[in-house]
Amino acid sequence: MSFFQKGRPYVIAGPCSAETREQVLETARRLSDGAVHLFRAGVWKPRTRPGSFEGNGAAALEWLTEVKQQFNLPSIIEVAEPEHIELALKHGIDAVWIGARTTVNPFHIQRLADALNGTKLPVLVKNPVNPDVDLWLGAIERFEKAGAVDVGAIHRGFSGYGGENRNQPNWPIPIELKRRRPDLCLICDPSHITGNREKVASMAQKAMDMHFDGLMIETHITPEKAWTDAAQQVTPETLHLILSQLVIKQELGEDTNARVQLEYFRQLMDNLDAEIIDLIAKRLDLSNKIGEIKKDCNMTVYQPNRWREIVETITGRADQQGLSADFIVSIYEKIHHESVRRQLNIMGTTAENQTTH
Ligand code: PEP
Ligand code: MN
Repeated sequence: MSFFQKGRPYVIAGPCSAETREQVLETARRLSDGAVHLFRAGVWKPRTRPGSFEGNGAAALEWLTEVKQQFNLPSIIEVAEPEHIELALKHGIDAVWIGARTTVNPFHIQRLADALNGTKLPVLVKNPVNPDVDLWLGAIERFEKAGAVDVGAIHRGFSGYGGENRNQPNWPIPIELKRRRPDLCLICDPSHITGNREKVASMAQKAMDMHFDGLMIETHITPEKAWTDAAQQVTPETLHLILSQLVIKQELGEDTNARVQLEYFRQLMDNLDAEIIDLIAKRLDLSNKIGEIKKDCNMTVYQPNRWREIVETITGRADQQGLSADFIVSIYEKIHHESVRRQLNIMGTTAENQTTH
């Protein structure tokens, strides 16, 4: 069993930053009633701009050793340099996470993966700041290839300008990660997604509904006075309330009647999917015939007026059916693109066969 799969949700909680020995020990004391599996604390802080608190470094590792001795609570810290990993091991830290700003850089990730080689230290990889599932998975694979035994992922949202959250959740990305790697433990970090303590509970519930395995929630004894990320941290008591109110659903519920109904509708849906694919194939056959005519009569493959006409027709039809026009147009853009590709082939003018003289 993975280090990170000892319950659903697997709960990681603790302050954004380890500020003082008292703050760390008091937060840990109030989190040590069994609901939290792993204590988090930032020891080296990746700050966007210089001049703000950058963490207490190695001194704070001693406080985490005390947390384990006093409260039997294992801890996880962020590492961004090979020396951080060395120090974490020296102080008996139980696991490490890779921050979003580090995951973007494969050179850096490779150095960290090499430093972790042979250590058995479990590692959670936060998504990169940009929405790129391959870059995220690539970082995970670098740790696995270097021999890391327990690797998991943390979804903390993606940078954007504006929007209702601090970082956009962009759910299709973690969903795609889980589709490709169902074996990976996937944790959600509602604190860094929302950036707002009032929204942490609903984002945590959403993560549970999206079948995440666990949660990482920033927790502080006096959140409004926190040295970093003050707006998003919750007190240990609020954390317990959030956890107690979570509704944990199973992929397939207990209700057999509901499962039979689900099966029935899924069968109907599968039949419709088969029809949709048959219809697309028929439509593309027509594109081929049209392509031959265009070739024989020297007409352009792409005809802007015809495409405009199609968009108008499908938009009207989408409206009649109460469907979003943007959604339908985005599907048709793909179909039209395939049509154009086939007709360019018929013309013999695909980019691949074009020769310059
Ligand atoms: C953090 O967890 O405190 C942190 C710096 O996170 P991220 O890498 O997601 O910004
Ligand atoms: Mn933080």
